[in-house]
Amino acid sequence: MNPELLNELRAAVGDAQVLTEGDLSAYELDWRKRFRGRALAVVRPANSQEVAAVVRACARHGASLVPQGGNTGLVGGATPDTSGRQVLLSLQRMNRVREIDAANLTMTVEAGCVLQALQQQAKAAGLLFPLSLAAEGSCTIGGNLATNAGGTQVLRYGNARELCLGLEVVTAAGEVWEGLSGLRKDNTGYDLRDLFIGSEGTLGIITAATLKLHPLPAASMTALAALDSLEAAVALLQMAQARLGAGLTGFEVMNEASLALVRRHFPQLPQPLAPSPWMALLELSDTESAEHARAGFESLLEAALEAGTIADAAVAESIEQSRALWHLRESIPLAQAEEGLNIKHDIALPVSRIPAFVAETDAELQRRFPGVRLIDFGHLGDGNLHYNVQAPEGQAAADFLATQEAPINEVVYDAVQRYAGSISAEHGIGQLKREELAQRKSPVALGLMRSIKQALDPAGLMNPGRMV
Ligand code: FAD
Ligand code: ZN
Repeated sequence: MNPELLNELRAAVGDAQVLTEGDLSAYELDWRKRFRGRALAVVRPANSQEVAAVVRACARHGASLVPQGGNTGLVGGATPDTSGRQVLLSLQRMNRVREIDAANLTMTVEAGCVLQALQQQAKAAGLLFPLSLAAEGSCTIGGNLATNAGGTQVLRYGNARELCLGLEVVTAAGEVWEGLSGLRKDNTGYDLRDLFIGSEGTLGIITAATLKLHPLPAASMTALAALDSLEAAVALLQMAQARLGAGLTGFEVMNEASLALVRRHFPQLPQPLAPSPWMALLELSDTESAEHARAGFESLLEAALEAGTIADAAVAESIEQSRALWHLRESIPLAQAEEGLNIKHDIALPVSRIPAFVAETDAELQRRFPGVRLIDFGHLGDGNLHYNVQAPEGQAAADFLATQEAPINEVVYDAVQRYAGSISAEHGIGQLKREELAQRKSPVALGLMRSIKQALDPAGLMNPGRMV
C-alpha cells in the first residue's frame, strides 16, 4: 500500500476511477488464465492529460505501470506482477472516435476504442478498417497497436503497423507526444511511431492513433477447400494469388485435429465438407460485384480441382454462410481453451518452407512426446502458423504443461530457428516469451533494443519485465 500515491492517483482521475477493492480479476487475470497478478490499483483515466498525470504520479513514487486495453493478449503482457505495487492503467474509458476524414481515408481514435466498434464506425462512413481478429469484440486499438496485431486480413492490408499513420503517446516522463498525423509521407527523422507500435507498453502509453481506411469492397465472398496436405495448401495459395491478385484478402488453414476439437466443443457449428487432413479458408474481396467475385472463385476452385490440388470445395452462398465459415476458424482458439491449457506457438516462417517444417516438427514431437495432439491452424497467406500442442487425450493439461512445456518449446523453437523463422509472428513477447527472446534474438539486436528502452524509459517504470 502506498496511501500518498493512491491519493495522487485519485486526484488525477477522480476517486471512482481508482479501483482497489472487490473482484478485480477482469484486470488481474489474463485471457488464457495463465497469469494472475495483483495491482496496487486499477486506474481508469478519461483522457490523455489524465494519463500523463497518472504517469507523473507513478514516476514521483517510483511505481511501475502496466497498460491494459481489452486484456485479450496471449503472452501475459497486460497482467501486473504479484507484488501488489504496480499500477494497472486501463485505457478502456478512452473510447472516442475523434475524427473520420473520408477524403484523406483516415480515422483518428482513442486507444481504448474496441476494434469491432471501429470497424462499424468506418463502415457507417462507407469505408473499411480492415484489421480483423477473433478477439475484435473486446480487444482495443491501443492493444492492437502495442502488440502490432495481425489477424485475418494481413495478406491484403498488412498488420496493425501498416494501418497506422500517426500516434499520440504519453511518454515515461509524463509528457504527451502529439504525433497524430494523417500523412502518408513524412521523412522528418527517426520513425517514432514505429518505435511505439509493437512495443507492448514498454516505452510509453499509446493514447490515440490516426488509422488508415480503405474503400469498402463491393462484395466479399468466402470459400472452404479440402486438401490432402500442406503442400497442396501452398500450391492453392499460389494459384489464388496468381488468379485473384489483390482480391485475395484472406487465406487461412486448419488441420483436422483443430476442426475435430471444434466439433467436440461446438457441435452446433456446421462443417460443410467431410473431414480432410487440411482445410483452407479463402476470402475474396471484389471491387465490382458479388457475381464477379463468385465467378472468380468458381474458376479458381474448378482449376484447383482439375489439377488435383484440392479434394473438394464449398463457396458460401450468403453473408450468413460466410460468417459461419469464419466462425469455424475463429472457434479453434476457443475450443482449445475449452479442452484445457495448451502450449501455443505463434510462429512465422517463409511460406515455401512451412510444409517441410510441419512434417519434420510433427514427427519429432510424436517421437519424443507420444500422443501429443498438434492443433495447427493459422494465416498461411502470411506465413504465420499457430502451431499449438495439446496434452495427449486423457492427460491433465496442468501436469502436461508443468513437465513438457520447456522441452516441447525447445523442439519447436529450434526448428523455427533452423527454418529462419520467428518465435512470435503476431502475439508479441510479453512475459511468456521473454526468456526465449533473450536466448534466440541476435545479441546485437537485443543490445539495440535495450539502448532504446534505456533512452525512453530510464527509470524502467513502463511495463517492466516484459519483452526486454
Ligand atoms: P491487452 O491484452 O490489454 O494488452 C496487450 C499488450 O499491449 C500488453 O503488453 C499491454 O501492456 C499493451 N497495451 C495495451 N494497451 C496499450 C496502450 N494503449 N498503450 C501501450 N501499451 C498498451 N492477435 C493477433 O495479432 N492476431 C490474431 O488473429 C489474434 N487472435 C486472437 C484471438 C483470440 C480469441 C484472443 C483472445 C486473442 C487473439 N490475439 C490475436 C491476441 C492479440 O494480441 C489481442 O487480441 C489484441 O491485439 C490485444 O488487444 P487488447 O486491447 O486486448 O490488449
Ligand atoms: Zn492469429
